[in-house]
Amino acid sequence: MSKCYRSKLVGAFGCPIDENPTGVMEEAAFKAKGLDYRYLTVKVEKEDLEDAIKAVKAFQMKGINITIPHKVEVLKYLDQLSEAAEIIGAVNMIVNQDGKLYGENTDGKGYLKSLTDRGISVDGKTITVLGAGGAARAISVECALAGAKKIYIANIEKEQGEELTKLIRTKTGTEAEFILWDTAIDVPEDTDILSNATSVGLFPHTDQKPDINYDSITSCMVVTDVIFNDPNSLFIREAQKRGAETINGLGMLANQGALNFTMWTGVEAPVDVMVETLRKEFQLA
Ligand code: NDP
Repeated sequence: MSKCYRSKLVGAFGCPIDENPTGVMEEAAFKAKGLDYRYLTVKVEKEDLEDAIKAVKAFQMKGINITIPHKVEVLKYLDQLSEAAEIIGAVNMIVNQDGKLYGENTDGKGYLKSLTDRGISVDGKTITVLGAGGAARAISVECALAGAKKIYIANIEKEQGEELTKLIRTKTGTEAEFILWDTAIDVPEDTDILSNATSVGLFPHTDQKPDINYDSITSCMVVTDVIFNDPNSLFIREAQKRGAETINGLGMLANQGALNFTMWTGVEAPVDVMVETLRKEFQLA
């Protein structure tokens, strides 16, 4: 009986990429499921992206994660996009379907899964998103596609915030309103879910929190944070003090990784193993 010594390949292209922990999480999941896959964390400079994407095909890789600074630029090398990736205008993962490259954005889907895992649906809800960068785009578009009633976008930089607000309104049909974040803003009273999608509070800046009026958070709100390497971020703690239910960014990270795993392998992902691996990696209790 012949033995196959050739592992199936997936991985990540980005720059910088050295501190990206995704490979540890995915490899733990492959091992848990007994799959012969390897995850390669590869530094790809801007000018090398086209060659790197050709390599995905040449090496017959099953797929690849795409991160900074390639998430938008890579679109021109893809054969097909998911609806969400098309609207968001960025992908964070690619599946190689027999030589055809399919682009998807699983950040927002991972976010939604971290909510549904806690029994929370965004259908008919009003969501206030802090920030208008990549994570905010993915979260707000997926919430809109999942039936959110209204989305507020609060951002310091006016043009970027207004652009995302308009995109939600025109591309998804969901009501959207821009809030200029020029001072410690109040969370709109009709907010059901408040989502921090800024980078404020990311390790090592764990002493920082978004500049909002925390007394405008109520116990009726669900408050979520994209920050994953401090699960008890100041933002989360302030919300807890006001009696709000809170969800940190660890679930979003693990769930988007789990979605990628399943799209590449066709096998259900061991999410618990992935969360546990991340917790160990971040030395969380
Ligand atoms: P971007 O750089 O694209 O966006 C950052 C956003 O944060 C911008 O809207 C920016 O506003 C805002 N911002 C930065 N500093 C401040 C501040 N002091 N006050 C208010 N707003 C501020 O980054 P990403 O969207 O890609 O990532 C954002 C965060 O989400 C990162 O911490 C990242 O690690 C995390 N993330 C987590 C994931 C998970 O799975 N948990 C997945 C993806 C990302 P402005 O435009 O006005 O400058």
